[in-house]
Amino acid sequence: MVTSTENPSPQTLGKVRPHQTQNEALLFEKSSPGKRAYKLPPLDVPAVDPAALLGAAHRTTPGELPELSEIEIIRHFTRLSTWNYAIDLGMYPLGSCTMKYNPRVNELVARIEGLAEAHPYRPDALAQGILEVIDLLQRCLLEITGMDAITLQPAAGAHGEFTGILLVRAWHESQGNPRRKVLIPDSAHGTNPATAAICGYTVENLKSNAEGGIDLEALTRQVDEETAALMLTNPSTIGVFESQIARIAEILHAKGALLYMDGANMNALVGKARPGDFGVDVMHLNLHKTFSTPHGGGGPGSGPVACKAYLEPFLPIPVLVQNEDGAKHWNYDRPQSVGRVRAFYGNTGMFIRALAYILANGPDGLRQTTEDAVLNANYIRKKLEDLYELPYKTASMHEVVFSDKRQAAKGVKTGDIAKRLIDYGFHPYTVSFPMIVHGALMIEPTESESLEELDLFIAAMRSIAKEVEETPELVKTAPHSTRVSRLDEVQAARKPILRWRPAE
Ligand SMILES: *Cc1c(COP(=O)(O)O)cnc(C)c1O
Repeated sequence: MVTSTENPSPQTLGKVRPHQTQNEALLFEKSSPGKRAYKLPPLDVPAVDPAALLGAAHRTTPGELPELSEIEIIRHFTRLSTWNYAIDLGMYPLGSCTMKYNPRVNELVARIEGLAEAHPYRPDALAQGILEVIDLLQRCLLEITGMDAITLQPAAGAHGEFTGILLVRAWHESQGNPRRKVLIPDSAHGTNPATAAICGYTVENLKSNAEGGIDLEALTRQVDEETAALMLTNPSTIGVFESQIARIAEILHAKGALLYMDGANMNALVGKARPGDFGVDVMHLNLHKTFSTPHGGGGPGSGPVACKAYLEPFLPIPVLVQNEDGAKHWNYDRPQSVGRVRAFYGNTGMFIRALAYILANGPDGLRQTTEDAVLNANYIRKKLEDLYELPYKTASMHEVVFSDKRQAAKGVKTGDIAKRLIDYGFHPYTVSFPMIVHGALMIEPTESESLEELDLFIAAMRSIAKEVEETPELVKTAPHSTRVSRLDEVQAARKPILRWRPAE
């Protein structure tokens, strides 16, 4: 391993990965003919001809599978699990993704038999428990967002955007003209323009001002009778709260256009400000970000869409309603609905986890969460702004975006610094996004991190900045402590090898 002698090394910062063994080939290719992970007793019933049982499905040559003993299989998968990085191992400052801790109480509640095993075809009358959970979550999310109606169907944030813009389109159609274009700021998440395009709209780019917010003059110029909506992320992807949001809504509404809010960054607002109160017409939430359900490789997403009352008739079917006697049922009889966007009712397991999180925290806990998330991001900002360039000086909310300007002068790019961070035991921050910041380092600690963990991260980032000055090659060739060194990322993305194949 390459280490600098003067600077604190990953080891001195106390973050070394477990189970590091050198011989890669030996660890991977373990199959050898004849090994088995089971032993069956001799047949004590009459043998049946498998061909007669299975017909054409009967395989005459056995499938080629790795041949291993049980302990080898167990060790293989257990070892692989330790080669990955997870929020359960340490800070995961992947900006925009809100990689917060997934509290274990959520998992306990989601495994309650009556909820976990509720079958989606169970008649409403026999599913009142799970319907109550869904209803309560809906009411909590409406309270948090200040909106009037909601669907939990969408399976992720991008899917929520799609659903939300379908509502916008259906509403404009009901007014006689679906309109032609959607405005999107240049700081937006890539899913926003993709959503607008897939819903049949032309995307028109809106320039940000020097503070990273919407340029009101440009907006006024660009909104017209053909504008269906503005899709706005608030706080934006550079972690800046759009302080002119109410005025922006007015400008749009004056031309009959709607305001869509990408609510993926609600971790900075929950308990503090409600989109419904500042002019937003429709928005999505990411339960897998703000409300602590596992994501990334860890679980399915959920992207509820909340809207104002005038968009309610267009919500996907079915919609949960309450009878006079208090019983709940799904209503499919909604002639103006945009239709289904997903099978059944959405990712129900995520609803249970999100509700558990909301109830476990309560209003004061959720507000504290927001304050801590913002405090943590600003702490990192303060502790690193002397070494890393801060392109936007506007106050940070839940994340802070630096640029690699100073390090790039030494030939070291944001991607190199991120790779070096792996050697220090941290998951990289988000690299080169948002695009309005050249060479961006986008850092989102979330509220989950303790002062001690934040200080370790800051020490690592400061140490790397020093390495860039003294031994830039060390950073440019990182990571040095991982199983594989720097990959050809283009090849890895274009020609991924995702499964075992028998040797030719
Ligand atoms: C994460 C994110 C999305 C997309 O959410 P997915 O669940 O990954 O589809 C959209 N917009 C912003 C600002 C995000 O951070």
